[in-house]
Amino acid sequence: MPRPIRALIHTDALARNLQRARRAAPDARVWAVVKANAYGHGIERAYAGLQGADGFALLDLAEAERVRALGWRGPILLLEGCFEPRDLELCSRLNLWHVIHRDAQIDWLATHKTTWPQRVFLKVNTGMNRLGFAPAEARSAWLRLSGLTQVDEISLMTHFSDADTGRGIAHQVAAFEAACGDLPGERSLSNSAATLRFAPDHPAVRADWVRPGIMVYGSSPDFPAHSIEDWELRPTMTLESELIAVQRLQAGDTVGYGSRFVAEAPMRIGVAACGYADGYPRHCPGDNERSTPVLVDGVRTRLVGRVSMDMITVDLTPVPSAQPGSRVTLWGEGPRGTRLPIDEVAQAAGTVGYELMCALAPRVPVQVL
Ligand SMILES: *Cc1c(COP(=O)(O)O)cnc(C)c1O
Repeated sequence: MPRPIRALIHTDALARNLQRARRAAPDARVWAVVKANAYGHGIERAYAGLQGADGFALLDLAEAERVRALGWRGPILLLEGCFEPRDLELCSRLNLWHVIHRDAQIDWLATHKTTWPQRVFLKVNTGMNRLGFAPAEARSAWLRLSGLTQVDEISLMTHFSDADTGRGIAHQVAAFEAACGDLPGERSLSNSAATLRFAPDHPAVRADWVRPGIMVYGSSPDFPAHSIEDWELRPTMTLESELIAVQRLQAGDTVGYGSRFVAEAPMRIGVAACGYADGYPRHCPGDNERSTPVLVDGVRTRLVGRVSMDMITVDLTPVPSAQPGSRVTLWGEGPRGTRLPIDEVAQAAGTVGYELMCALAPRVPVQVL
């Protein structure tokens, strides 16, 4: 028998979450962002749930080929554009739209031989300072692009640095408007946080396309300010396993490497078949002061002891009936309608839901529901 660990992908929840993005921006089209192998879900596995999108946004050309191989004929956007001149051939062959964020990408286009002109998204750096033309350079880049026979339509985009925090997006929206408010073309500004928090009230933030990623995968972009329940999102990935052993501890007994947990009284603990080699974060605390939530048979309990490569140990005090074979939910949907949002586990580990879902290990069998 294989180890009892597995991941579940919830097709329904993907479709619902995508629908939720649409509800926040009803007059915009929706890119389902599927970079990083659909945030660890697997592009092929997530596809059925995401087919209602207007397009797929990603950054790896091999991933674009996989989306086309699934039969998708609609828009695909390369969020970082081309990495070298010959990528343009693939853009022509697969009909990929691509981001232009620096001059060299325009140079490559100018010498590219193609029968069909390409659609590009000119990226303006409005304060993120990662990719894009400075506001003062945006117009000349647009003019250069508009003079090329290789270019069909030019759209405009930018990316927010603080859509999930107190600083917000107003300063970047203003910079975007100042840089290219009078240029023609479709526009795309919003990630998940901006889609949920600002798009409903601001047409210019909804614009023509929104680009939700994390919300589609059932993680709240501004947790803990808002949970997935607050945003009406559902988990799309469940990581679950089983107890493979139970131990009885006496007061003073310690658990696991480094003896990070010390029993204060007699107690039972369970050993679950899940460790950091499965993608469960090794940083999840399980000492006497700080812990990480886990469900056993749908009952909320806590990690005790350090996460090891293939196993974790959990407190069975709240679940006296637990025994080997009991279901352990690391995140996602538990039995009988119980739930452990990935955001709560990520917070305990000092990271974000994004990192956990992207880190699901290849050795974990995945089932699409
Ligand atoms: C990843 C990404 C998104 C999606 O961001 P989320 O926070 O996951 O919604 C949108 N736009 C760009 C350019 C991205 O790189």
